Amino acid sequence: MSLADLSPAELSALHEELTTRYEELKPAGLKLDLTRGKPSAEQLDLSNELLGLPGPDHTVDAAGVDVRNYGGLQGLQEIRQIFGDLLGIPADQLIAADNSSLSIMHDSLTFALLHGRPGGAPWARLQARGETIKVLCPTPGYDRHFMLSEALGFELIPVDLDVDGPDLDTIKKLAAEDPLIKAIWVVPTYANPNGAVYSSEVTRELVSMPTAADDFTILWDNAYAVHHLTDDEIKPVDVLGLAAEARHPDRVFVYASSSKITFAGAGVSFFGGSKTIIDWYLANLSKRTIGPDKINQLRHALFLKDADGVRALMRRHRAIIEPKFAAVEEILADRLGSYEVARWTEPQGGYFISLDVAEHTAAEVVRLAKEAGIALTPAGSAYPYGKDPADKNIRIAPTFPPLAQVRTAIDGLATCVLLAAVTRRLA
Ligand code: PLP
Repeated sequence: MSLADLSPAELSALHEELTTRYEELKPAGLKLDLTRGKPSAEQLDLSNELLGLPGPDHTVDAAGVDVRNYGGLQGLQEIRQIFGDLLGIPADQLIAADNSSLSIMHDSLTFALLHGRPGGAPWARLQARGETIKVLCPTPGYDRHFMLSEALGFELIPVDLDVDGPDLDTIKKLAAEDPLIKAIWVVPTYANPNGAVYSSEVTRELVSMPTAADDFTILWDNAYAVHHLTDDEIKPVDVLGLAAEARHPDRVFVYASSSKITFAGAGVSFFGGSKTIIDWYLANLSKRTIGPDKINQLRHALFLKDADGVRALMRRHRAIIEPKFAAVEEILADRLGSYEVARWTEPQGGYFISLDVAEHTAAEVVRLAKEAGIALTPAGSAYPYGKDPADKNIRIAPTFPPLAQVRTAIDGLATCVLLAAVTRRLA
């Protein structure tokens, strides 16, 4: 029965039952961690062959260049070809770099800030005049996007994000009105954390909308492009093609990486864009490095072989993590469904489940869970400045712990969700 329909006496009885259940969790000495979207050791093991590659006899790339030496700023052609095929981007419009796409996000924004991106003056010049650069943040979103933007002095403007895309009307209105709005964060496929997928139609609107800033930039972070959890393996939208069609070819910065394909800490990252954007980025990059870790790129190319090699590997990841997502959804439905106190996403891919609990209880749920040995990402972390106005959102990252631990943690979490909701109703 819905919590809203319970009489005060029934609520008190439920409160007592839940308190007992919660108190029983504590002596169990749980040490469960659902905080970050990390691959499990079992997933990392899928790529252990990398550790033996490229091997002492393999020191040149397909073009005959010695990968041990300096140079090759744009990265190996063969690894750009594989990820170009996966992302639907020509290899010459892709740069392959070192192990973190977040670093490329940092660098590209810093280059825009310090030197200006094509079509605009350095954003820092505006900041020096006391103006505030602003960035649109579809929420819930990726906390590190928000922290990076904040660290560069940008104001974060939240915009609602639903599972089928963001609030376009608001985005269009704001971007058309305010020349200080320079960018929007987009995780187009299986967004972190709510699994949202941006359709071609939504993408077309974003690349074609009039913007007050000539150098408005879509920060298109396709971190989960190939991370499917169902047989419906959605294809990446041709964002650069659509942007070119809309006569805004330079509007989009594309980011991706193999972090959750091979090794999260030792993968290859990618930056994509129009030819103009790639030339601009390389010109700036050439002052920062003489070239990327080409040995790592070569070993990835040898291991993954081609786009189908990546797809096959991702199916093996899916076999490991799909049961964890299914367990979360099953336990939440079983424990919370009838009380109508929470809603959660059932993503078709990616790394997260987004859980909305009773309003004004998320922080309390996270606190209760922590005391019971279940670590969750801080409430509000999926919102700009860590502030969820309704204090209701919790991000669940089920990939890292073993399945049995995921089950125990989510069952414990469900107890905390209910206990916090009932306590609030009784207050
Ligand atoms: N982008 C999104 C949306 C993510 O969720 C993550 C990691 O969780 C990253 C980027 C980090 O990517 P990388 O490991 O390539 O720095």
